[in-house]
Amino acid sequence: APNSWEARADDNVMYGFTDLPSLHARGPVVLTHGTGINVHDVHGRSYLDANSGLWNMVAGFDHKGLAEAAKAQYDRFPGYHAFFGRLSDKTVELSEKLVEVSPFESGKVFFTNSGSEANDTMVKMLWFINTVMGRPEKRKIITRFNAYHGVTAVSASMTAKPYNQWFGLPLADFVHVECPHYWREGQPGESEAAFVARLAASLESRILAEGPETIAGFFAEPVMGAGGVIVPPMAYFPAVQAVLRKYDIPLISDEVICGFGRTGTVWGCESFGFQPDAIISSKNLTAGYFPMGAVILGPKLAAELMEASEKIEEFVHGFTASGNPVGCAVALKAIDVILNEGLIDNVRALAPQFRARMDALLEMPNIGEARGIGLMGALEAVKDKDTKTPFGPEVSVSERIANRCTDNGLICRPLGQAIVLCPPFIITPSEMDHMFDMLEKSLREVFAEVA
Ligand code: PLP
Repeated sequence: APNSWEARADDNVMYGFTDLPSLHARGPVVLTHGTGINVHDVHGRSYLDANSGLWNMVAGFDHKGLAEAAKAQYDRFPGYHAFFGRLSDKTVELSEKLVEVSPFESGKVFFTNSGSEANDTMVKMLWFINTVMGRPEKRKIITRFNAYHGVTAVSASMTAKPYNQWFGLPLADFVHVECPHYWREGQPGESEAAFVARLAASLESRILAEGPETIAGFFAEPVMGAGGVIVPPMAYFPAVQAVLRKYDIPLISDEVICGFGRTGTVWGCESFGFQPDAIISSKNLTAGYFPMGAVILGPKLAAELMEASEKIEEFVHGFTASGNPVGCAVALKAIDVILNEGLIDNVRALAPQFRARMDALLEMPNIGEARGIGLMGALEAVKDKDTKTPFGPEVSVSERIANRCTDNGLICRPLGQAIVLCPPFIITPSEMDHMFDMLEKSLREVFAEVA
């Protein structure tokens, strides 16, 4: 209907990251509110959101404590910046809390409004340190193919995805190395250990080819999220860290998705056995209740950034809303809820059920891989399981599955030919079963049509 919410959306909204043929086939879903882990549309239909919004609504959609923390802070002091040494008390409290819960003994925190800006800021910090300290050639940033670090010009350059070509990206100085997806990238007959050794050796030869003195940093998500939930082999990060240490290259953990519990530990780096020099946080930081990102520098980078700033008497970077007091109050509450009110415990408690239900779907002839950790997972659709042959692009298999799921009351996300699941941390065992029942029904229906 011409005046429907859907038509008004189509007429006026520029959709981001939306497969247009699949959108045209099904139409948008316009939502009014959420309860628990469910969202509700303008027609009164409900959907279990297996994606926690975009990985971030980990406390669900109607957490009273988070809303109250925001309201109380709006009443008290609704907005302030953190320039010129003027800042809110909440900004101080949250910085202190983040250093306390970080893997670092000491550090410094810089706030942004998003994960993209936090990565952008971290890169600028490295460039600033190296430029001010007389090493302007030390600029190159290494990330992995399939990584997702954001969409600003710098963070999109770190994001090594084919669509960046449409923007003429990456910028100069961004180097991309192999993605640690053993199931897809492992060579025939290659053991997981040999795969890891090959990737570490390849990273080292790339560093040597570029010149170690030109590399400013290596960024990695502990588990690649938007790359399709790529869980690296356990030996991968220790091997990568050894190479980086050899050439004194900072390792930055992009914990925008993994941070605050998604993998079952506070930080993803804890789950994968590495010690980053800095952490990028966003999303779960406020449980999605306020747009905010943060760079958490460990002691070495914090000292280097201070030294460079002292030298020219200023760190020339900041956003109007850096350390916004409402965002800080919400983040303080979110961290408390995740760490002290049982959310991270629930991730750990339900991870085995999540894993078991994912693994059971591997019995389907068109599911090639079921991968995951904690409460993040992906199921890879394949046309032929033995040869790992994907479906042809004309099938749009994962979009089709996601659309069928929506029709069946489940929101989940297609990524490549995989279906991603990352439910809110408050999910219950029966909701988990319901989620997988709806998914299984949708998979059976679609595979019957396309296989
Ligand atoms: N880093 C990672 C690992 C992400 O998954 C994302 C977003 O999904 C970002 C950075 C970018 O965050 P934002 O969308 O808040 O800019």
